[in-house]
Amino acid sequence: MVKKSKPDYKEMSWLLFNKEFQDEKDCCEWLFRTRWPNGFECPKCGGERYWQVSTRDLYKCCSCRHQISLTAGTVFHKTRIPLMKWFMLIFRMATAKTGVSINEMKRELEIKDYKTVWTMAHKVRKAMADRDSRYKLAGLVEIDESFFGPSISGKRGRGTEKKELVIVAVSTWTNSDGVEIPGFVHAFVVENATANTIENVLILIGIPSKEFEPLTKSIRSDGWRSYQAVTEKWGIVHSRVVLRDPKDSMKLLPWTHRVIANAKAVFAGSNRGISSKHLQRYLSEVCYRFNRRFWGREVFHRLLYSITQ
Ligand SMILES: [Zn+2]
Repeated sequence: MVKKSKPDYKEMSWLLFNKEFQDEKDCCEWLFRTRWPNGFECPKCGGERYWQVSTRDLYKCCSCRHQISLTAGTVFHKTRIPLMKWFMLIFRMATAKTGVSINEMKRELEIKDYKTVWTMAHKVRKAMADRDSRYKLAGLVEIDESFFGPSISGKRGRGTEKKELVIVAVSTWTNSDGVEIPGFVHAFVVENATANTIENVLILIGIPSKEFEPLTKSIRSDGWRSYQAVTEKWGIVHSRVVLRDPKDSMKLLPWTHRVIANAKAVFAGSNRGISSKHLQRYLSEVCYRFNRRFWGREVFHRLLYSITQ
């Protein structure tokens, strides 16, 4: 809904954030500028004059009287929570390396209900997941699985919840010094690690790909037979590392293990457990921040733009 403008992904510290967004009006003005970078334009008749109907976010075209909500098409639409609180939560979620605590945000945003803050954060996670689903993995892709379960989710003594299998894939490239650098990551909760599942995951992340040229169609794994079967079927180069000792996985499959360890640390630190049902979204949040780790303080604006488009 929101008209695309050339985004200004300016860097933003907490100090700058507090200068730029001091009240609800500042947040509305930011949305207005993002939606109509060249000034108001009625989506129905193209009229440029408007009335502001309410102090909140409703605008009325002077020519055709069409009413337009500033937040239509964004996660903020019809929310009863002030935009200011949304923006603060988004800033924290974009920048907190270990994720945000809902209880802490509840206090900081002065929202009484835990579920309200949790739902807001979950909507932000959805926007993160949607944004990242556009990214395909090129180059040599390292891929591995890990179990995520109740023991790392903060819940204790509950045997009812089963462990979830997660496949993590990280693209890599080699710099001019011959050093391997991790690129983008994707993580998926899967039912099993059969060849069929692995094949579906590889298709999702773009291997093999028609979109990227040249794409080194190769993966690195622990040599599990499903990878073997799929790589043979697709004619993908498969470099198989031999894990004699599970501890070697940190060395031989370094990038997937870094992401897995990071995700487990984030989840273990969350105040309330992470249920199987929502694990995928939490993983998407971890991946989103990992994928933007070099963009530093631009991440807040990047996330804000993706949420409002
Ligand atoms: Zn109009």
